[in-house]
Amino acid sequence: MSARILVVDDLEANRRLLQAKLGAAYYEVLTAQRGEEAVQRAKRERPDIVLMDVMMPGGIDGFEACRRIKAAPETRHIPVIILTTLDDRGSRLRGLQAGAEDFLTKPIDEVQLMARVKSLVGLKVVIDELRAREASGKRIGVIEDTPDPLEKHRLVAGNVLLVDDNPTQIKRAKAALGLEHRVAVLGGDADAGPPDLVVVSVNAKAFDGFRIIARMRSGAATRHLPILAIVDSDDRTRAVRALELGAHDIIARPLDEDELLARARTLMRRKRYMDALRSRLDQSLELAITDQLTGLYNRRFLFSQLAPLVQRSQCGGDPVSAMTLDIDHFKRCNDTFGHDVGDAVLQEFAARLASNVRPSDFACRMGGEEFVVIMPRANGDLACHAAERLRRSICAEPFSVPGAPHPLDITVSIGVACSEHAEDTADTLLKRADEALYEAKRSGRNRVVGKAARSAA
Ligand code: GH3
Ligand code: MG
Ligand code: MG
Repeated sequence: MSARILVVDDLEANRRLLQAKLGAAYYEVLTAQRGEEAVQRAKRERPDIVLMDVMMPGGIDGFEACRRIKAAPETRHIPVIILTTLDDRGSRLRGLQAGAEDFLTKPIDEVQLMARVKSLVGLKVVIDELRAREASGKRIGVIEDTPDPLEKHRLVAGNVLLVDDNPTQIKRAKAALGLEHRVAVLGGDADAGPPDLVVVSVNAKAFDGFRIIARMRSGAATRHLPILAIVDSDDRTRAVRALELGAHDIIARPLDEDELLARARTLMRRKRYMDALRSRLDQSLELAITDQLTGLYNRRFLFSQLAPLVQRSQCGGDPVSAMTLDIDHFKRCNDTFGHDVGDAVLQEFAARLASNVRPSDFACRMGGEEFVVIMPRANGDLACHAAERLRRSICAEPFSVPGAPHPLDITVSIGVACSEHAEDTADTLLKRADEALYEAKRSGRNRVVGKAARSAA
């Protein structure tokens, strides 16, 4: 998988070296010499990952540059890897606190570098996909322009599942993570609820940590869970293997409690961010096709379904029927009892409609007190029978709705049409159903008129 990587280092030799290594793996490399330049390039060119040196003379250092990248809405989703000269605990922590996803120590180990880059690129691909869908949702107006979810999810407490068999290590991890999160040990504690982060030791004797990582990454329910692997500090092979199998991050033994907490925080924030993006998409899809008052499908959805059904029936497929329904003298109901009672009548009407159509039919609200039911694979006769059944389900029992002084007698007029004309479209079909409805209204209301069949009330 190719990606664009911004390499930030004041020394040309270092930039060249990274450029050569990353270029050989077919990554596209951009470079910057100073912190300010890095922030600007990140904003302008939106790389997939930033590799950031910390020590840069003159201007802002790598930590500050990282902080600024993470503070700007247009760049905060870009993963940053901090490059430190020494294996210096202070810098690592400062990097993680500045919002960096990861750090590497110089001289840079090529295998580690590639494993980290690959793992972060994988994550970035998912985030980009979700961001793109969100952007297109905003464009067509089905997603509101609410604040960036990452903002809301800066500080989060969550559930951590610890998979380990080493009592000392478990104690340390629990002490550190317990400061901010609820921690449960697999097979030990009572459930802390569905985990937001899994910490797995790959040195355990009682189980195979790699297998657990691989399983979690392939299971549908656990695929999106961030995994932090604990490895021996000098065990490069295992570290790389854990990342390749799908761990999102690794931490060395013996555990540094501050580092553990900082890494957990980063992973968890990222997970919340992706969860928020995902659920906003689901919600907005739902919103995009439903009518808010009644929960029926809306007009947008109706047309998206009806057009292909009519087209298919024109090409020799099954017939499709449409009925348009309009509540009789609904204005009187509003005028007499108020708009809220009118709304409640619409809701009750929708509920009766929904429970009296086949599961394969689509009941939609066109607007106001006008509804449409689409009936795939129904000819005119069948549709007229269904319409008659619906009509009776409305007038048979008065509507008891909140706010009304007594149960209300409600009736409906229905027009039915079937796609039998060779040049039918969704529009002509609905137009014929409307004409039938108009006839039903004119001839006395509370009745069904079918344009394609004999049946009428
Ligand atoms: P007809 O039998 O000829 O259909 O008469 P009608 O009174 O039902 O038809 P008309 O189209 O004259 O009036 C429809 C009324 O529906 C007018 C409008 O105020 C009301 N209405 C439209 N949308 C809503 C809504 O969302 N809630 C409520 N309570 N009323 C609505
Ligand atoms: Mg009406
Ligand atoms: Mg009307």
